[in-house]
Amino acid sequence: MKILVINCGSSSIKYQLINTKEKTTLCKGLVERIGAVTSIIRHEFAKEKPVKKSIALENHSAALSKIMELLMEADNEHLHDVSEIEAVGHRVVHGGELFKDSVLIDEDVESAIEQAFDIAPLHNPPNLQGIRAAKKLLPNVPHVAVFDTAFHHSIPQHAYLYAIPNRLYRRYKIRRYGFHGTSHYYVSREYFNVLGKKKMGSKLITCHLGNGGSITAIKDGNSYDTSMGFTPLEGLVMGTRSGDIDPSILFFLIEKEELSLANVHALLNKHSGLLGLSGYAGDMRDLLEEAEQGDRRCTEAVDVFCYRAKKYIGSYMAALNGGDALIFTGGIGENSAIIRRKIVENLSYLGLELDDKKNEKAKGFSAIHAIESKVEIYVIPTNEELVIAIDAAKIAIASQQTPWA
Ligand code: ADP
Repeated sequence: MKILVINCGSSSIKYQLINTKEKTTLCKGLVERIGAVTSIIRHEFAKEKPVKKSIALENHSAALSKIMELLMEADNEHLHDVSEIEAVGHRVVHGGELFKDSVLIDEDVESAIEQAFDIAPLHNPPNLQGIRAAKKLLPNVPHVAVFDTAFHHSIPQHAYLYAIPNRLYRRYKIRRYGFHGTSHYYVSREYFNVLGKKKMGSKLITCHLGNGGSITAIKDGNSYDTSMGFTPLEGLVMGTRSGDIDPSILFFLIEKEELSLANVHALLNKHSGLLGLSGYAGDMRDLLEEAEQGDRRCTEAVDVFCYRAKKYIGSYMAALNGGDALIFTGGIGENSAIIRRKIVENLSYLGLELDDKKNEKAKGFSAIHAIESKVEIYVIPTNEELVIAIDAAKIAIASQQTPWA
């Protein structure tokens, strides 16, 4: 089946056309700066050079129309007619407590996504905007919502409750939800499938390290705990997000620097993390280059990043009472041997030993642990879009088999 996967941010849309039978990406692209004077589109058919265009796109609807136009451009063998798209899979960041699985989008689902605006003000509004625009453009195919939070629904209460008055959980559903669920799910399934391992009795720790980052403890194949919380701000040091901090710092700063709520929000989400620590960049490649040239603050930023990740691995080894495998994924996790080494070094007490040569050479699905390591260590490339496409295909088929759905 040909499935269009859409991931809408406030001013961007990432998209992929996926053939779920072959598990291949036929085309992918990114539209940025939607609503600005000029938006930028980067569009790429498989095995061809990417095309970059600048054009005014006033909203998500206009951007999606343009994407459809590009998908059907002459000479492309992948899509001849819109009717070949059999379903659309939408990434939705926050499913709240309601959505444990992907769902066919109807009016009730749209209003439930809207009800979660309060707890996901940055993500759910553009996600819903994208859904509504895509439904107008492709009204005759099933649209499916795949939630970043869904995989983490198995987290037990003692791991998802915060130690604040319980009535706040009951009234506002303030709890740990966790994100990057499709990525943690995908790499854990790759581990089970490729290596022929059993889910029951297994203990995995998956590290998704990209611009955003999270670590998940997975027990018997199910998410048991994860570093992101009520929002994607908690946990690891990220590109521009602080991750864990003492909440009292905020009271202190609000008083000292007379910050508004919006200022605090921007401080923690946009000006912190690697960017805030280094004062130079939130991008790990840039930081590693500067660190190699001897820049002290870039080196410190990398050190804080790796130390935080190491602490989470240690705490999840405690939560799981051990571990069979540690898995690295995401732009940093898949590509940076230095970061993997810095995170895993001095964890031999917990049974983790890297093989430096294997670590340096890792490309694609790779084992990088030393023979004597008690815990296996892998690099497994993630593919969140494929998870979304496969879920959308399954739900689309099921909805066609039940005519009343
Ligand atoms: P997103 O979370 O936006 O999907 P990615 O998973 O693509 O992001 O990860 C982006 C991050 O990966 C950036 O910080 C980038 O510098 C980093 N990265 C990509 N390749 C490398 C590399 N070879 N070495 C170090 N970091 C890398």
